[in-house]
Amino acid sequence: FVFFSSDIEISRAQSPKAVDVLAKEIGLLTDEVEIYGQTKAKVRLSLLERLKDQPDGKYVLVAGITPTPLGEGKSTVTIGLVQALTAHLNINSFACLRQPSQGPTFGVKGGAAGGGYAQVIPMEEFNLHLTGDIHAITAANNLLAAAIDARILHENTQSDKALYNRLVPVVNGVRGFSAIQFARLRRLGISKTDPGTLTEEEINKFARLDIDPSTITWQRVVDTNDRFLRKITVGQANTEKGFVRQAQFDIAVASEIMAILALTTSLQDMKERLGKMVVANDKKGEPVTAEDLGVTGALAVLMKDAIKPTLMQTLEGTPVFVHAGPFANIAHGNSSVLADKIALKLVGEKGFVVTEAGFGADIGMEKFFNIKCRASGLVPSVVVLVATVRALKMHGGGPNVTAGAPLKKEYTEENLQLVADGCCNLQKQIQITQLFGVPVVVALNVFKTDSPAEIDLVCKIAKRSGAFDAVPCDHWSAGGRGAVKLAQAVERAANQKNGFKYLYMLDLKQEHCNKGFGNLPICMAKTHLSLSHQPERKGVPTGFILPISDVRASIGAGFIYPLVGTMSTMPGLPTRPCFYDIDLDPITEQVKGLF
Ligand code: ADP
Repeated sequence: FVFFSSDIEISRAQSPKAVDVLAKEIGLLTDEVEIYGQTKAKVRLSLLERLKDQPDGKYVLVAGITPTPLGEGKSTVTIGLVQALTAHLNINSFACLRQPSQGPTFGVKGGAAGGGYAQVIPMEEFNLHLTGDIHAITAANNLLAAAIDARILHENTQSDKALYNRLVPVVNGVRGFSAIQFARLRRLGISKTDPGTLTEEEINKFARLDIDPSTITWQRVVDTNDRFLRKITVGQANTEKGFVRQAQFDIAVASEIMAILALTTSLQDMKERLGKMVVANDKKGEPVTAEDLGVTGALAVLMKDAIKPTLMQTLEGTPVFVHAGPFANIAHGNSSVLADKIALKLVGEKGFVVTEAGFGADIGMEKFFNIKCRASGLVPSVVVLVATVRALKMHGGGPNVTAGAPLKKEYTEENLQLVADGCCNLQKQIQITQLFGVPVVVALNVFKTDSPAEIDLVCKIAKRSGAFDAVPCDHWSAGGRGAVKLAQAVERAANQKNGFKYLYMLDLKQEHCNKGFGNLPICMAKTHLSLSHQPERKGVPTGFILPISDVRASIGAGFIYPLVGTMSTMPGLPTRPCFYDIDLDPITEQVKGLF
């Protein structure tokens, strides 16, 4: 190994094994694998049926302290840990990761394939289009958005009868309902099957959704940090006859369809969830769904391949599933239930599946437990909480960092006081994890500037604060070998007594109850940079009142999401975005600068 090369150089220096070889190694049958090129394959859900009697492996969640601009390295720990388990300790393991959004990849954060000698390869495949799942989500999301505005236009420019005749056309001399239209008739309580026999009142009821444009919550999406789309006006061309309204774009990975992809358990379940998505209210205040717009089948068709997890590998050739999306602040930010379920079967009873929750344990992990585990019924065995000396120093009052400027000496030289002060955030996140009853192992991701005394101090404080163990890890510079002690600690913790519980039950009374949506878990849209709603408040802020600016419902995904303070669902580009460093060599076709 050549140390301190860039992530992409390290990635490229290792040739991945052919993905069909990897698929065979992990016990997949030929007809369970759909190969996409040399290094990626989608895995069919039929596998779950074949392996249904196989006991599950152990389920490990990697979460972190409250993030700072200095980063903690949750993805590198996730990958380092599976490399250690499989390549060094000979224990079957799988990493289940989220697919990065192209917003951050070209914007502020860069890619998310891990880094150093703990990476998913090829990292450019992982970070760019992968197998097209985000494009499928964008297509499905925007088809539904187009259906809403078009429907409003058509309903408002045609009589009941003309609208009905177009919605239920004559084909081969016979006017007939489609299956989706029959289902709508049943929902409306109309039992007739012959389209010619509906009364005027029934025709009006059937043909008009009567959407109130001011209540539309369904937005268009694109997977680019395009701040100018945060507020837009649609319908300005003359052909739209004055049906102008204010709308917005969200980043594609914040779409409810991404949340559904992450939480669904089968094609049938995904179809049902897509149909249930509420997009607006009608003029009587009743919810209008994707099913009412007749678009459920088309959405399922657009998503039929996206539902299959994508198989890739780590630098050390161990298996990885990449599936569903990031953004634990404005979404729930977890990889998919399906990938976890398949991986838990594939690793066998003694194996480990390691998955990652975005941002700090207070939001990513909280959503993992209360939303994702509730949807899957799976019980995690261990939480690995990632911290770095540098980030803890910032929580302890270390100076802010300016993009592009060299790091201040507080972060590059030993400073035990800042570390000790910042450990309050680690301690708080350990306590939050303990509320869920799962053993926690702290992984201290070591940077070359950390001193032995600083490393020692963090591990001591972590253990004193209730962590089952706290282990320094060198996977970034040494690969799986550098995370062997962590892997051993995780193995021991997985054999501990586990009292997993949700933090709240679903029968709490809450807003949206009057529409029958009262029994859903909560997905806070909140800044990830502080335990409070104010990003600048590091450490453990206290004495704040959380301002809720709005409460929305994602009925298909199955959660209610309160917006805490001002949360934008469309990130912007900074002055110097990552794309400045990204280039393509036209001769070798190599991608450069993607970290
Ligand atoms: P997270 O998942 O917490 O966002 P990542 O694991 O993606 O963080 O790491 C973010 C970046 O920091 C990557 O580019 C990675 O190479 C770098 N990084 C992580 N750990 C270390 C380390 N120990 N030393 C140097 N760089 C690191």
